[in-house]
Formats: sequence, C-alpha cells, structure tokens
Amino acid sequence: MKSSPILLDNRMTQFLTATSTMIDFRLINKVRPGLRGRAVLFVAILVTVCVLGTSIYNVVRVNQILQQNQQTAVQGIGSGLQTAIELPLAVGDVREMARLTDKFMELLPDAQFILVQDTGGAHLALSTSDREMYEQYIGGRLNNEGAHIDRFTVLATAVAESDLGFMDISGHDRALAADGSESQHDHSKQEALGTITICVANTGLREAQMAQWRSLLVTLGIVMLAALPVIYFVVGGWTSRILQLVRFAEHITNGDYTREIQNHKNDELGQLVSAYEHMRLAIKDRELVEQRRSDELRIAREEADKANEAKSQFLAHMSHEIRTPINGVTGMLELLSMTQLNEKQRKQIRTAMSSADALLSLINDILDFSKIEAGHMEAEHIPVDVHDVFESVAEMLACKAADKGVELICDIAKGVPRYVLSDPTKLRQIGINLVNNAIKFTEQGEVVIRISAQEQQDGTWLLRGSVSDTGIGIPPNQRDRLFKSFSQVDATTTRKFGGTGLGLAISKGFIELMGGEIGINPERTEGSEFWFTFRAGQCDQEYEQRPVFHGVLTGMRSIIIDDNETNRDIYTDALTAWGLRPEAFERGEDALVAMREASNLEDPFKLAILDMQMPEMDGVMLAEAIQSDPAIHKPTMVMLTSMYHTADSDDLENLSLAACLQKPVRLSTLHDALAQYLAGSVTHQVESHDDHADLLESLRGKEILVAEDNSVNQMVIGELLRSVGVQAKIVENGAQAVTEACGHDFDIVLMDCSMPEMDGFEATQWIREQEKSMRSKDRTIIIALTANAIQGDRERCIDAGMDDYLTKPINAKRLFETLAKWIHKASVNTPEDSQADANAAQNRPALPPTPTETQQQQSHRTQAGDIFDIDAALERCAGNPRVLAMVLDEFTRSYDGITPVLEGLIESADYDQIAHQAHALKGAASNIGAAELAGYASGLETAAREQQLQQAQRTVSAISESLAQLTQQIEAVRPNIDGEHA
Ligand code: ADP
Repeated sequence: MKSSPILLDNRMTQFLTATSTMIDFRLINKVRPGLRGRAVLFVAILVTVCVLGTSIYNVVRVNQILQQNQQTAVQGIGSGLQTAIELPLAVGDVREMARLTDKFMELLPDAQFILVQDTGGAHLALSTSDREMYEQYIGGRLNNEGAHIDRFTVLATAVAESDLGFMDISGHDRALAADGSESQHDHSKQEALGTITICVANTGLREAQMAQWRSLLVTLGIVMLAALPVIYFVVGGWTSRILQLVRFAEHITNGDYTREIQNHKNDELGQLVSAYEHMRLAIKDRELVEQRRSDELRIAREEADKANEAKSQFLAHMSHEIRTPINGVTGMLELLSMTQLNEKQRKQIRTAMSSADALLSLINDILDFSKIEAGHMEAEHIPVDVHDVFESVAEMLACKAADKGVELICDIAKGVPRYVLSDPTKLRQIGINLVNNAIKFTEQGEVVIRISAQEQQDGTWLLRGSVSDTGIGIPPNQRDRLFKSFSQVDATTTRKFGGTGLGLAISKGFIELMGGEIGINPERTEGSEFWFTFRAGQCDQEYEQRPVFHGVLTGMRSIIIDDNETNRDIYTDALTAWGLRPEAFERGEDALVAMREASNLEDPFKLAILDMQMPEMDGVMLAEAIQSDPAIHKPTMVMLTSMYHTADSDDLENLSLAACLQKPVRLSTLHDALAQYLAGSVTHQVESHDDHADLLESLRGKEILVAEDNSVNQMVIGELLRSVGVQAKIVENGAQAVTEACGHDFDIVLMDCSMPEMDGFEATQWIREQEKSMRSKDRTIIIALTANAIQGDRERCIDAGMDDYLTKPINAKRLFETLAKWIHKASVNTPEDSQADANAAQNRPALPPTPTETQQQQSHRTQAGDIFDIDAALERCAGNPRVLAMVLDEFTRSYDGITPVLEGLIESADYDQIAHQAHALKGAASNIGAAELAGYASGLETAAREQQLQQAQRTVSAISESLAQLTQQIEAVRPNIDGEHA
C-alpha cells in the first residue's frame, strides 16, 4: 500500500519561509533597536523557533502514528473480510456478502464505503456511510486529500478437490495495486474471485492535526506573553542602569566630577558601577592635582611675565638714562663738527663719536637680545641699498682692521641687486657683529665680506653673505653652541678679547626673523667662515642709477698692483664690468716690467691702481718708480691706502696721484673717483651735497617749539636748530608746551615724551583737543623725541596724535631731514592730507642711519669718581669750552637752590617729588662729570623710592656739602674756561 504525502510538511516550510521574511535582519540592523529591544526581539525569535520546532515535530510524529494506526485497522478489516467473503463470493451469495460488508463497516468508524466486486468488476455488495464519496469514487473524482482507498483481491484458496471448487485464499496480495499487476505470489495456482475496495475518510486525522496546531499557537502565545514582558522589564532594568552610567560619563566628560553614582546591587553591572565610581574619584583627584598645578603654573607665569615686564622697563629706563648723556655728547660733537676744524681735530671728533656709538651699541645689544627673547622683535620691509649696507660696514670697521694690519675686503658679487626690500638696521648689525668678531680673532691676513645672490623667485631674493677670516679659527666641537646667548669658545677668550657672547645669538635671531639661516663653514681649516642667508623682497621702485663710464674710459688699458689676491680679483672684475681692460699684478717689480712693455708696444696702461701697503716695494715706491722711469708712459694713478697710512697732500702732488682712496674702497667710490678724475664727469656726491644745502635752506626762518626737560638736551637741540637758522623756543614741560602751542603757530613742535608735570603724550592730546574745539584747520606738526627704544614706543607716539618719531641721542642729519620733510609736506599738503600722513606715519620706515650712528669702536672709557672732573666734562662737550661754559652755567643756575627745595620736600614727605628731583640732579651732575654728586643723587632717588626718610635726610646733607664744593670748583675753573674760549 502506498503512503500519502504529508500535508503538514508543506505547511511547515511555508511557515518558516514566512517567518524568515518577516524577521528581516537587515531591517533590524537599520532600525538599530536598543539593548532592550534587541533582547526582546531575540527572545521572541528564540521562543518562536523552539516552540514551533518542537510542536511541528510532535504534530508530524503524531500524524504519522495516527496514519499507521488507521492503515493497520484497514489492513485488519481488509484481511478479515477477504477470508469471510471468500465463500459467499465463490458461491455468489450476494446477501451474505452485503451482510458481511455491513458488519465490517461497523468495525471501521472512519470507513466511507466497502465495495465487493467480481473479477469482471460487477458490484456484488456495497455498504456506505457516505454515498457521495462512493459516487465520486465511481465517477473517478475522488482525490487523495479527502479519503484513502485500499483494495484487496479475494483469491480461491481451496486446493482440495471439491465440487465447489474451493481455492486457497491465504496468499492474498497486500501490495496489490488496483490493476493487480504486481502480485508477488504464484498466481498460477490461485484463482481470483473478486476484489474488495475499502474507502476510509481522512477527516479524523485532519481534525486531530488542526487541534494540535491550535494548541501549538496557544502555547506560543502564552509563552510569548509570559516571556516577553519579563525580558522587557529585566533587560530594561539593566539598560536603565547602563544609561545612568552613560549620563555620568557625560558629566565627567564635561568636567563635572561632583555627581556620585549610587550602587545598590552586587551583580556584574553593580561591579561596573563601583569601578566607575572609583574611576570618577580617581579622575577628580587627578583633576584637582592638575588644577593646582596649572594654578601654580599660571601664577609662576604671571610672575615671570611681571619680571619680564620689569626687566623690559628696567632696560628701557637704563637705556633712557644712558642715552640722555650720550645725547649730550653726540649732540655737542655734531655741533663741533660743524665748526671750522683741522684734520686732526676731525679725527678726534670721529674717535669721540665712535666711543659714544660703542656705548650705544652695547645698550642696543642688550635691548635687542631681550626683545628677541621676549618675541617682540620684528623685521622691517623697506627699500635697502644692499651694497651700501655691507660696504658701509667695511668702512666702519676699516680703522679697526687697519690697526691690526688686517686687510678688510668687501666683495659684492655681480648678480646681487642694488635695492631690495629688507631691514637695513638688522643687516648692518649682523655685518658688524660678524666682521667685528673676524677682526677681533685675526692677527694677520684678511677678513673678507662676500655677498651673493642665491635665487630669485616669486618676487623674493634669497641672498647669501659670508664673513671669512684667517684668524684663530673655532674648534669643531665648539661650533654649535656659539649661537647660544652668552657662549664663547672658552673663558680665556673673554679675558683676552672681551665681548659679551651676545653678538652671534642676536645675529641668529635677526637672520631667523628675515627667513634665513646662519652657520659656520665646517670645511674651513684655516681661520673661520661664518655664512648667513636671508630673504628680501624685490624692490620695484625706480632708483637713480650710478652713471656708467662712456667715451674715453671705454676700453682703457689699466693696471692693478696689490699684494692681496682677493682685492686683485675684485678690482679686476669691477674694472672689466665698467668697460676697461684691466691686468693685475702682485708685485711692483712685475708691474713695472709690464708697463714698460706696454709703453713699448704703444698700448700703454693709462690707469694704475696701486695698493699702498705692499711688501718689498710699497705703493709710494712704485709710484716714484713709475714717475722716474722714462720708458713708462705715465698713467693716471689712484692710490689705495689704509686708515692710518693716508698720503698727505705733498705726496699727492709729488707723485702726481690723481686720488688717494681709503680701503676698503667701495666700488662706487672708486667708480666716482675714476669718473671725476679721468672723465671729468660730475659725481653723485657733489649733487647730494647740493641737496643737503637745499634741505638746510628750507629750515631757515622756521619756528620750532622744543619741549624738553633736560637742560643739556635743550641746549644741544637749541644750538643745532639755531645753527641752521631755525627760531627755537624751548619749554621745560608738557603744560608749557600746550600753552605755547595754543598761543602761537609753530611750524613744528619737538615733544620730549617723558617730562615732569605733564608728559609729551598728554601734552599732545591736549593740543589735539584744543585744535578740535577751535575747529582749527591748521594741524600742528608734533614730532616725538624719546630716549626709549623699546617696542611699541613708536605706536604709542602715533596713537597719542604725534606725527613722527625721533630717538635720542639726536642725530643732526636725521633731525634736519625729518624737519625738512615735514616742512615740505606742510607747504604742499592740505590739512586733511597731514592727518592722513599722521595716520600713515605708523607704517613709515625709519630713515637710514648715518654711518656714524652705527659706527662701532670698542674703546669707551670710564671715569673715576671725583667732585668735579673738568676733563671728563670737557670731553662730554666735545672739547668745546664754550659749550662747557654754557653747560656749567646752566647747571649752577638750575641747582643752586636745590638743597632747600629737597629739605622742604623731605619735610612734607613727598617721595615722588624727591625721587624726581634727585633723578634730574643725578643726570645733570653726570653730564658735567660730578661723579660724587651724581652718586649721592642716585642714593637719594633710591631712598625716596623705598620711602626711607632718615636715609633721604642724611643723603640731602651730603648732597648739600658736595654741591657746595662743586660750586666752588666750578667758580675756580670758570675764568680759565672763558679764557680758553676767548
Ligand atoms: P662676543 O664676541 O661678544 O664674545 P659673539 O656671540 O659674537 O660674542 O661670539 C661668541 C664667541 O664665538 C666668541 O667669544 C668667540 O669665542 C667665538 N667666535 C666668534 N667669531 C669668531 C671668529 N671669527 N673666529 C674665532 N672665534 C670666533
């Protein structure tokens, strides 16, 4: 018998497919449910899968058993009926057959009908409980789903010889199909009598199945209803604790460590909470430590800032204090140099000037270094004549090199642009530092400054400079640290050569500001070579170019005689570039031979450049030899001399020298000299001299108000102004300046910044206010005078309403240029323009300093203390007795009655005023060389600042005595001074 397909299997597959479609995991991932949602979903799926799995198994199994039972029952009934019906079938007893089928129908509750047929298929007996199904069967419409059909063949089993012809019916075929073709038995001995068809309905099985499915769904529902809320609440409890932790973590992230996390459970989450709490406390502690540390750091930093500020202030004050007397010295020297002097006196003035400059440079070094350290230093970006900067450095230090017999050479390569945008002051300073060192550490040989252009791109030049020497050199292991502040090769260096160890550190700071690098050439074995690079902007501005040679000079044969190879190379290159035909010789004798030959060949040398200092045959000897040799066609001779070997006018005449130029000779100077003597062209210098005269002329008759409290400065500025025909009105403080400026139209006001009662800033503000309230169209030009060279001073002056800025010590050239510039502006500008100029003044580049301003000579002297050192006083007044007399008179007039004033102030304990008066007295006494009085005044100033009244009283008595002695001494020497002056 064939088993029917199991319907449930299909359903299960369908169900699982539907479920897996519903639970689309990608969707879950997209929605991203929380932990609680995931747990609920997971449990729901798990429960569903488990319940469904076990239930489906049960349903399938039970179904199988029920089907087997039903089949067994059908088999039993079928066999029984086969046996029972054999005889009636054999004899054709239809009634018996009907009875038997009815009987067996009753035994099979699900049976729908039992049909007995003969072998011909005729219906012999039929029992039905469902006539419809029988008719469907007969009609061939019965399908397998509704019912189950079993067929049995009835065989004649009787083998005995009988009349009835009984057949053996025991060998029936259970697997007989409807057509009976698959019989396994030996049918040859058996004869078929008919067939029995039993139809059993599947309804019972299906109902049982449905009942099971129902119970499955109910179970599933109950499990879901019970499990999901439990899971929801249990997992919800955990997640809410986790979320609490998240919130605390957020508080900690936001720096709030105050919230304590409560923990009442000891499960894993509870342990996590405890660990969290420990972590919070640890972070809180660490935060407190950090906070404390950063507070300490902040306080330390504030203190350091304050200390730095105090240092800056101190440096500013110190610079002010030192600059003021230097102002007196340089001012007087300027005045003196404008008088009729012989060469010796000029030299002395130059020396005095350079001593003052050395002192200034020392102050500037310290200021510069502190500014670099504080990050306050900025590089300027103004038009610079690069050639002039380095050539002027060589000129400045020529004396020093000549002193030691060292050749100082400046070689500026061909491709170096004349003008670039850079910071001339810093470049000059770097040059001075390096060349100064090179000369200092070189006993013989040469020091060469070389400048070359490395590259040019995007409107910028990369220029390279180097300073090489043939001196003591630097050991390789010392090279790196030399660029650090206060470092020198060893202590003996300091003792032997002096120096602060700041020069290279400052140069490095400057170079870095200009986007370059500085270093030492490691390959140099003899002496040392310092190199540096810097970036400079391309200068688009048009500048007057030096005239180039034309006409007679073109192709002129010329000879250079110099023992120094570098010089020979430089002059040869230069003369070639100017269109001449130069040849260079190391020795005079060789040159003479060449000159004779040239004269013979009728292509003589027409120009000879001779070096004065040469071994064996020096310049003068060579010139004499040329002059006296009849075989030599006489060339125009130019002698190059060192600082201290200048040829005097007799020599010039006797040797028929066209010019005598001091080395290091600027190529431009050589060029001008050649142009002047050989081609008779007008030199650039003559023109500039005329320009200068025009400039001074423009000042004549102008009215200038000078507000300055220091009497020496008053005198210097007053004299300078009067010397160029300016009418100068001098006042002592800001208040007087305001009164004067508002009562009279001055062309310019020169305003000292720090003055008693009212300083220059306040006075300027008052004047500007006054102009506004009077709606005056004329804006007074105010130029600041300040000794403070610290960062921000210029800005402060401009902010206060001043138009320009001059630093002390006052340099006559710069003073006149500045005044002339503003007077010229005022004559062509409208008032609005001058305001615009004032606004623009902040960005205006400073005027280039004069050579003397930066000239460095390390030979300043100190003066021992005395009541009154007349020599020192005279030296301060540039050796001019007239000025000294004026200074002394001014001193005695100003300070004659100072003692009662100081006593009065002490009585009223007015410390500020005492300090102020003492400060002024200190400066004035220093200016006239009264060291003792200056010392007492300084003591009084300190006592006043520290509010030590008794100490101040004692010091005033000492001042009184010292002043009395000083007055006596001044009176004693005064007639002599007058006499000398007369
Ligand atoms: P200073 O010269 O004022 O001591 P610097 O910073 O300019 O300070 O130089 C630091 C040191 O570097 C010098 O003291 C010297 O030992 C060494 N030095 C600098 N230039 C040279 C040089 N050209 N030859 C030899 N040593 C040098």
